Amino acid sequence: MSAVSIKPKTSSKKETIKEKIFDTIIIGGGPAGLTTGIYLSRARMSTLLIEKALPGGQAILTEIIENYPGFPDGIAGPELMQKMEEQAVRFGLKIEYGEVEEVEIKEDKVKIVKINNQEYKTLTIVLASGAEASKLDVPGEEELRGRGVSYCATCDAPFFKGQKIVVIGGGDTAIEEALYLTKFVQEVTIIHRRDRLRATKILQERVFSNKKINFAWDSVVIKILGKEKVENVLIQNKKTGEEKEISCQGVFVFVGYIPNSKFLKELVKLDKRGYILTDDNMMTSQEGIYACGDVRKKILKQVVTACGEGATAAFAAQKYIEELKGVSYE
Ligand code: NAP
Repeated sequence: MSAVSIKPKTSSKKETIKEKIFDTIIIGGGPAGLTTGIYLSRARMSTLLIEKALPGGQAILTEIIENYPGFPDGIAGPELMQKMEEQAVRFGLKIEYGEVEEVEIKEDKVKIVKINNQEYKTLTIVLASGAEASKLDVPGEEELRGRGVSYCATCDAPFFKGQKIVVIGGGDTAIEEALYLTKFVQEVTIIHRRDRLRATKILQERVFSNKKINFAWDSVVIKILGKEKVENVLIQNKKTGEEKEISCQGVFVFVGYIPNSKFLKELVKLDKRGYILTDDNMMTSQEGIYACGDVRKKILKQVVTACGEGATAAFAAQKYIEELKGVSYE
């Protein structure tokens, strides 16, 4: 790549954050984005992280993370994420709050990130916008959301003390959350569309030995019922066609995630489900734009993989910027 005429901007006291051309703007403050922030701030790249709500991503909704190395007894999701944020800020990472509306590429390889009707300029972007919970798309789900229908056990479990609830899904999230919910509720019925779980074996061992949990196999929810609050779910057995109602006060939906990539429109190549395609260095189809974490198409979605990808994206972005500015180590 040939060096172009982008000089490192010296910061004048009058320069505001919006006039500045950042080396990197990171979109998303989960483990992937925060790790990118730690690495780039330590490399003394001028970096801005944009987060729409609270840094931490999905991990702050997790009661305990047991498979992040270095914590033999596990660590609470919010605690781990708070530590990552503190670490990034300590090295100088700036964080702005707002939802990215659009990303545009201008001449001279400068990219524009638009949030809250403001424009921020940058040489590289790291997309770490994560994913959000999929919906079931059945009658009653939207109407009773927040009135018994939930997508977060850590947030809502205490509202269901002593009650009967159902959990939908058979992956790691559904099983972990079902186990967590048993600390509060009287009974959990896991409704799963197949006759075997997708979740990791250690979680399966725990769920099968938990006396508060029972299963409705090969079944899907076709309706959530209730006037003011959830009262029942109507399920159908996919093998027999038989329908039955399960009385419950809570419906916890954990049927996977959809990537937060809509705002990118045609900017980078996505797979058919909306996950961003990258090479091994986290580079997307667009020069100078990288992706990491759950928004990226990959085989394993974990905090540890998000962190590894964040570090790789940071390193690749740093190399790109240095080439762009004509920095040489010879
Ligand atoms: P997931 O692995 O995609 O599982 C989604 C579950 O929902 C599957 O059991 C799937 O059924 C079911 N499902 C999907 N669409 C459905 C629908 N429309 N109606 C009914 N059921 C439906 O999602 P996840 O459990 O949220 O996990 C996401 C990723 O995060 C995974 O890679 C997972 O390993 C990771 N994760 C890891 C941990 C951990 O390591 N402790 C914790 C949480 C999540 P089928 O099985 O039939 O497809």
